[in-house]
Amino acid sequence: MKNPHYSLEATFKHQGIEQMLTKLTGVSRVGAVAEASCATCKGEASSFRDALSKKEYTISGMCQSCQDSIFGISEE
Ligand SMILES: [Zn+2]
Repeated sequence: MKNPHYSLEATFKHQGIEQMLTKLTGVSRVGAVAEASCATCKGEASSFRDALSKKEYTISGMCQSCQDSIFGISEE
């Protein structure tokens, strides 16, 4: 006998697993970028030095200051 609620339950469980994984790994990178916050320091990530830094943010989810501390500030 098929349970008519099975697929709905599976979807709910799947979302629960996603949320659990997000909690285990710290933050959801996609969520952080969507909220314009930093995935590393949880700070605000609204201003970037240049287009490259902004692009890096969409990849790594790191704000300008976190990018600077990891990659170093390169000024000519
Ligand atoms: Zn940061």
